[in-house]
Amino acid sequence: MTGHTLARLPEQAELDGAIRAAGLKVTSPRVAVMRALADLPHSGAESVFAAVRHDLPGTSLQAVYGVLAALTEAGLVRRIEPAGFPARFERRVGDNHHHAVCSGCHSVQDIDCAIGEAPCLLPSDDSGFAVHSAEVTFWGLCAACQAEAAA
Ligand SMILES: [Zn+2]
Ligand SMILES: [Zn+2]
Repeated sequence: MTGHTLARLPEQAELDGAIRAAGLKVTSPRVAVMRALADLPHSGAESVFAAVRHDLPGTSLQAVYGVLAALTEAGLVRRIEPAGFPARFERRVGDNHHHAVCSGCHSVQDIDCAIGEAPCLLPSDDSGFAVHSAEVTFWGLCAACQAEAAA
């Protein structure tokens, strides 16, 4: 047992508890994927796979897709799919936040919900549609890409 391992125990217990509370069995692939998404929010399946393959010898990209689907289904992970991009995943769920996607470097940033609860905005004419949520993608250039463009 190293100090490093001990320091991770509380996080481990918290993760296990969250997975169990969502009605899923705690498995090392699920824990590893949740941990990877804590470090790398808005990652695609391939980045998650790259992050967990060291800890999970014998895992496959296909298996990571399966884990991400199960975690998304259970509400532990949110899947976002900016137009033209493969799906990205994050652990920030249930707060109706939005995303800004950089068309230069393809980075994704969280944008807090403008009013704090869903739906963030309403159509000017809803044609009788009962809106329960609105998901906004802001497109543009991140600060780093703007600086690079200016240089
Ligand atoms: Zn950028
Ligand atoms: Zn987000």
